[in-house]
Amino acid sequence: MSYAMNVLEKVKRQNPNEPEFHQAITEVLTSLQPFVDAHPEYERAGILERLCEPERVIIFRVPWVDDSGKVQVNKGYRVQFNSAIGPYKGGLRFHPSVSLSIIKFLGFEQVLKNSLTGLPIGGGKGGSDFDPKGKSEREVMAFCQSFMTELFRHIGENTDVPAGDIGVGEREIGFLYGQYKRLANSFSGVITGKGLSYGGSLIRTEATGYGLVYLVDEMLRRHGNSLERKTVIVSGSGNVAIYAAEKVQHLGGKVVALSDSNGFIFDADGIDIAVVKEIKELKRGRILEYTKYRRKAVYTEGRGIWNIKCDIALPCATQNELNGSDAKVLIKNGCLVVGEGANMPTTLEATKLFLQNKVLFVPGKAANAGGVAVSALEMSQNSMRTAWTFEEVDKKLREIMVNIYNNIANVAKEVGQEDNFVVGANIAGFKKVADAMLKQGMV
Ligand code: NDP
Repeated sequence: MSYAMNVLEKVKRQNPNEPEFHQAITEVLTSLQPFVDAHPEYERAGILERLCEPERVIIFRVPWVDDSGKVQVNKGYRVQFNSAIGPYKGGLRFHPSVSLSIIKFLGFEQVLKNSLTGLPIGGGKGGSDFDPKGKSEREVMAFCQSFMTELFRHIGENTDVPAGDIGVGEREIGFLYGQYKRLANSFSGVITGKGLSYGGSLIRTEATGYGLVYLVDEMLRRHGNSLERKTVIVSGSGNVAIYAAEKVQHLGGKVVALSDSNGFIFDADGIDIAVVKEIKELKRGRILEYTKYRRKAVYTEGRGIWNIKCDIALPCATQNELNGSDAKVLIKNGCLVVGEGANMPTTLEATKLFLQNKVLFVPGKAANAGGVAVSALEMSQNSMRTAWTFEEVDKKLREIMVNIYNNIANVAKEVGQEDNFVVGANIAGFKKVADAMLKQGMV
């Protein structure tokens, strides 16, 4: 058995009951196999074993009191995965499904993603099984303060810099940062995604969605095509989905569907983004409410968004939301491009089908790297005590996404797998981290 497959089997054995983590390492190690076989120095230094084992895992109790006076206890996590090329960096997810497996898969992906941005950031991820949905402001604040009361001792602007993810938006970041500042007695860039009045960066809110579409746009142009008049489906209706949809429309495409965990809407005339922002960002409501504003739109309960015919599919909700059957329908309907706005939204089977059928498929670690890239720009602005304009940050974001596309496309070509961006992203992301680890010795 090859080195990569040996490590894969061993890591799965050593970490049982972690299906999402197994899925992430299977995708990466399988596609790295020929590359690491050709470079025996990685095996000699045990790079893959070290890459798959987090540098540190912190699991902690988060007690808080709800509005009825009852004590609630959630689990908190921070996985500090790899600091070879910079301080740990990666979001916090608050969702009832959060487990060690999910945080490890996200942290592992984050290491390679952060490497692809070209910026000096290592990889980490954290979160809790706390569900902010349906909680009062006071309850969300009580939870965030308790979570940070433990987390603050493990993070720092040169150590580990968390950000948002599912269930952690500007409100939660504000509460987390306030508590950090109080405990550490330090106003520093220790969290990104901050509000503009206290150190946040312009474009951070839009960055992941905009970045995804910048990369897709660049890829289409290199293939003699464009976003003009393309029909696009975006799943989810959170931070990534809203700004991906907005940028598609800026660039001449038409987004006809969005979803949330209850169902999806279809609007043949093109989704009205201002309405979605009002429902989701202001009212914290459900996507169903869209039909009250746009009478011709149709709401369908449950999953099924991928049955709608489209040229481009942008899964922007959560892991494994697009499976093999969905991929077959998309391919049958003539879908040209799949760009992952979410982390690992596509199952291994679906990814394989897209690659076999020559759908241009961009994995999340490349496609959604715009968020963390602008977070790193927020860190730079914080340490320089400055604030760049919207246009400056937007320009830098676009350049970073074009560079990522060039990097993954060139590497794929170099290894004889043109347009296989899964292989391109995994090798390009891995190489920088692995070479830094080689130089830093046995740590
Ligand atoms: P949000 O919390 O803002 O939105 C998440 C969206 O996905 C909501 O519409 C939510 O619906 C839906 N969703 C969540 N869980 C499920 C589920 N189990 N089944 C169906 N739908 C679900 O999160 P983000 O937009 O920030 O994150 C979306 C994805 O993008 C995640 O995979 C995240 O890791 C990834 N990502 C985010 C970045 C960022 O900058 N925010 C950066 C890079 C990647 P509902 O409201 O019903 O729960």
